[in-house]
Amino acid sequence: MKFVFITGGVLSSLGKGITTASLGLLLKSRKLKVTLVKVDPYLNSDAGTMNPYQHGEVFVTEDGGETDLDIGHYERFLGENLPKRNNITAGQVYHEIIHKERKGDYLGATVQVVPHLTNLIKDKFKEIGKEYDLCLVEIGGTVGDIESLPFLEAARQMGLEENCFYVHVSYVPFVKSVGELKTKPTQHSVQKLREIGIQPDAIVCRSEYPLTEEARSKIALFSSVPIRAVISAYDVDNVYRIPFILASQGLDDLILEKLGIRTYLKRDMSSWEEFIKKLENPKRTKKVAIVGKYVEVRDAYKSLIEAIIHAGAHTLTKPEIDLVDSLDIEEKGAEEILKGYDVIIIAGGFGRRGIEGKIEAIRFARENKIPILGICLGMQLMTVEWARNVLGWKDAHSEEFNKDTKHPVIHLLPEQKDKPLGGTMRLGGQEIKLKKGTMIYEIYKRNSVVERHRHRYEFNNEFKKDFENSGLTISGETKGLVEVIEWSEHPFFVGVQFHPEYSSKPLKPHPIFLRLMEM
Ligand code: GLN
Repeated sequence: MKFVFITGGVLSSLGKGITTASLGLLLKSRKLKVTLVKVDPYLNSDAGTMNPYQHGEVFVTEDGGETDLDIGHYERFLGENLPKRNNITAGQVYHEIIHKERKGDYLGATVQVVPHLTNLIKDKFKEIGKEYDLCLVEIGGTVGDIESLPFLEAARQMGLEENCFYVHVSYVPFVKSVGELKTKPTQHSVQKLREIGIQPDAIVCRSEYPLTEEARSKIALFSSVPIRAVISAYDVDNVYRIPFILASQGLDDLILEKLGIRTYLKRDMSSWEEFIKKLENPKRTKKVAIVGKYVEVRDAYKSLIEAIIHAGAHTLTKPEIDLVDSLDIEEKGAEEILKGYDVIIIAGGFGRRGIEGKIEAIRFARENKIPILGICLGMQLMTVEWARNVLGWKDAHSEEFNKDTKHPVIHLLPEQKDKPLGGTMRLGGQEIKLKKGTMIYEIYKRNSVVERHRHRYEFNNEFKKDFENSGLTISGETKGLVEVIEWSEHPFFVGVQFHPEYSSKPLKPHPIFLRLMEM
């Protein structure tokens, strides 16, 4: 089996995920069977219970995993869906080892991090890797963190058993006062990695500017790698260009050579190039407001932003995306905050803060006939807004925010009551039946589609007739659960209970976003 391990040094948020995803794409473009794995050293079982402020969005896989957002990058660059098992957390492996110990699997032994935990981690890598020509494993965090040690130790041991390549992603700061790129932090970080027993085969240097030859040779010398294995990954505006930056310096060739894989397989990046050409040569712009509440962190809406960008590229439209704080709408009114936008998207979310602002945004878009898409919570609030302002039920709400309303138009399904909160939402891909003659049917041009979910509350069917009689169309359903609402007297007033943004890919944009961008 062949593995590439990607570690990080000096700083977090260096773009290891994008580096891993880009390498995945480059290797896959040579017709190799490649998969990407993300290791997260935190003790949560998955990203589902974490706050977007700390961790960015929770990415949902088709098989119902609540994963790290890097899995989203991987899916977008590889252009394929990944299973949830490709996101391994410390929480999962510790849970598993303790469970095995209780079962008696280690009877007589003292259960230890080395070898028991590291063996379990290695088994997981091998289980995934055995079906592929190459398995890339990104180890989250920064070398030197306490939490990541068992994973780095497992990665080191893998080198004794399998054919492995180690990439270290590091940071080379530019110090303005001396006008120089500084290599010392990278040197120290490589030393730290060596202390753990891993000698990197390549160093990917993140920096504001391209590396100078001097910096490159210094890093090569101190890290004991050939100069061609010091890769300059300087800042670019468009992350989808990064595969080309790595390819132009031959990082993928280096990996194939070391791992003994036939390098005569040529990269075919033609469709990716075409995508980039479209992305970088738009013919018009569209102003898009994403109304949410985690607006300080762009990563909280990562997939959504990318889905808009993909659709923008394919329609030669440059989306100018603003994250709009729904609390600002509460304070200053939708008229002031949202005027001038071509498209309004009400994002998913949890909790009471900013809810009334989102409802106001919906009213504004509905009355002024501005294209609006509500996603998950956004769709639920479109239902609430309709109930309040069209049906005249002023107290209408979702049970999530008001348990005593007489009009709980969004409610908790009986099977969701009293469940623990981790991993118990309605999760992952489910088949949705679309109603012929509706806008959503016309967008997908199909009777049924599979889309990903992550929610607990649902449209309350008790009020279905009232909504339909007042002009709202229920145009998609899954076994009695409402999935899509729309209003035919509006250019685009669509709410979806699912998350279309998770399945959009650069080369296969999602039809809902395509429609929004081409309008
Ligand atoms: N909070 C809502 C629910 O649990 C919506 C969730 C979401 O937008 N992902 O149903």
